[in-house]
Amino acid sequence: MSVATGPNVVLVVLDSARADALADAPTFTDLAGRGARFERAIAPAGWTIPSHVSMFSGLEPTRHGAIATGTGVQADLANARAKTHALADGGNLLAPLLQHAGVATFSSSPNPWVGPGAGLDAGFAEKRFFKWLDPRATVTPPPRLDSRAAKVMQVVRAMRRHAAWVRSGRDKGAEVVLECLDDFFSTSSGPFFAFVNLIETHEPHYPHASERTRAALHPRSLAETANIVLQPGLVRLLRMRAHNWGGHRLPDSLVERWKQAYAAEVRYVDRWLGRLMESLARVGHADDTVVIVTGDHGESFGEGGIVGHGLSVREPSVRVPLALWGPGIPTEVETLPVSLLSIRATVEHLMLGTDDPRSVLNGSGRGSAQVEIEDPARVSRPPRKHRRVSLGPGAAFYDGDLKLAIDPFEGRRLLDLARDPGEAHDLSGQQDPTPRQLEALKEWEGRVTRDA
Ligand SMILES: [Zn+2]
Repeated sequence: MSVATGPNVVLVVLDSARADALADAPTFTDLAGRGARFERAIAPAGWTIPSHVSMFSGLEPTRHGAIATGTGVQADLANARAKTHALADGGNLLAPLLQHAGVATFSSSPNPWVGPGAGLDAGFAEKRFFKWLDPRATVTPPPRLDSRAAKVMQVVRAMRRHAAWVRSGRDKGAEVVLECLDDFFSTSSGPFFAFVNLIETHEPHYPHASERTRAALHPRSLAETANIVLQPGLVRLLRMRAHNWGGHRLPDSLVERWKQAYAAEVRYVDRWLGRLMESLARVGHADDTVVIVTGDHGESFGEGGIVGHGLSVREPSVRVPLALWGPGIPTEVETLPVSLLSIRATVEHLMLGTDDPRSVLNGSGRGSAQVEIEDPARVSRPPRKHRRVSLGPGAAFYDGDLKLAIDPFEGRRLLDLARDPGEAHDLSGQQDPTPRQLEALKEWEGRVTRDA
């Protein structure tokens, strides 16, 4: 059994944070400049559960199986729970491994996908999961909804909670997470591993009051408030139609408002990162703690016709920030692609001293990456007339600047991201994918076919 010898590690996952949004954030840029910054980090999956299970296990979604079932939220959670518990029992999940090695483990999040519902609390000795709409309430099992009336009532209650939240001017839980971290830092003598997932940059795109005023996003009327409250539901209804399935385009003004709100949300979490560092310094852990900041997937605002995440393998949906700083971390900027499948190996490398080539601190694992996404119909409810259409799953395989994309909506394309960052020009027919890409594609196809 390994024994923890290295520094403490704090892993911060900014949910739905796209890499370019953090690129100029002042606190993040300053902190990342003191350590290792990865400009082309690729999320392993398109949405929260598979991405986190991949980060914690080092396995691709088609290997760990904690993916969308296509039969609803409760089924997705139950499936994820079974898969994460099996990984934990088999010694293949990060937090339980660290716990066995004597590490004090802590987790906090307002995101229901990363809590006990999905089994992602496994191995965390201390945990504080709560609902972002109601941060003072701890997570309880959701009620069974047997009747149509019960379902309608649940939607009504959710709308009222949304409205109350918009009026309150509260954030989406980052404040409470920081309080919980403060408590943990001040009582922990180390070595410790703290993981938090913040959903400030996740939809609904509506920033904290402090940033709302600055960005002139404060709702001026009841109608505007109602619009904001309705938006998450509308996004879900419209995001498929926003693409070429139904030819429905979201109004540019609405997409522009989301972009502004998203930028304000990024500014808010950026300031939060500064407060996290102050918190570590206050309890004397600034010099013995490595902080890792990343995202679980990106967020599209109309690129390729897509709004949201989980449906596309375009860069806005899959490229995320990644930086780590602290004792022993060299100062560098890496422009080669790296995969967040490396998170588990990186934390083990830092805390347990394991020598795994997949750690991002080991150069040999850099240069290639891949992302897998599920059939959009499993992740997001398609419009009624398209219910029977199956687009199939997607993936992208990166080798240096070349990206071989299998996108559910756009099909197979070969892209040179250095010359064509907007992913507009398909090089298929002019150029071949690399042997490494073709091998990864073949392996992925084998796993997808076996699942079907
Ligand atoms: Zn997420």
